[in-house]
Amino acid sequence: MRTPVIAGNWKMHKTVDEAIRFVAALRETELPGNVETVICAPFLALPALVGEVQGTRIGVGAQNVHEKNEGAYTGEISVPMLRAAGVKYVIIGHSERRTYFAETDETVNQKVKAALGGGLVPIVCVGEVLEERESGKTKEVVQHQVKQGLNGLSPEAVAGVIIAYEPVWAIGTGKASTAEDAEEVISFIRKTVADLFGQQAAGQVRIQYGGSVKPENISTYIAQPNIDGALVGGASLQPESFSKLVQAA
Ligand code: 13P
Repeated sequence: MRTPVIAGNWKMHKTVDEAIRFVAALRETELPGNVETVICAPFLALPALVGEVQGTRIGVGAQNVHEKNEGAYTGEISVPMLRAAGVKYVIIGHSERRTYFAETDETVNQKVKAALGGGLVPIVCVGEVLEERESGKTKEVVQHQVKQGLNGLSPEAVAGVIIAYEPVWAIGTGKASTAEDAEEVISFIRKTVADLFGQQAAGQVRIQYGGSVKPENISTYIAQPNIDGALVGGASLQPESFSKLVQAA
């Protein structure tokens, strides 16, 4: 049985104080034990968040990481730095990073290897843009991203990865994929992992859906056999809606 993961991606939202207030409010709500709950926050808020979630079931994640451990890379943050701060997860290759910060399947692969090597759980994002969907290329695109992103990993390593399928046209648009369409692509991703890394890794790897997930639609995704939770942007910013998402999962 795969444990579902609900991860909030705050993107570029919340000061340190706002992050602390969020967790204080979230702690007032009931979080079920059978769901892995993660908050991926801006770097500055991470140390405070790690302190605030002590004694809860909430894990803390970053939204990006550099592939090198240290060096002359102005403005970057490394895996050992995140680990030392108590961070456990890191989002890698989000479509916004691919679009605005020139991340490629190659850099995604390097970052995934660095994260796993340093003991962080990578949440690897894949997904097609609207034009690719409309021209029938969705599976081809995600297959390529999965293959390149996980290239060179062992089956054991792949089993510990979280993949987030986020169709780019569904992100922040309110136009969520239907649960059936998401299941079709996600089961295809699982088959791709099976072809590349074997049945065991494919059976263990967790694959989330992301893109306009809300408390109102989360249960439709969770009901699908291959969807193991969600990566949530906008609806993760309020403690009330985030806790509803976790409760529904
Ligand atoms: P929204 O939930 O705001 O559509 O964002 C999805 C996302 O990009 C999560 O990483």
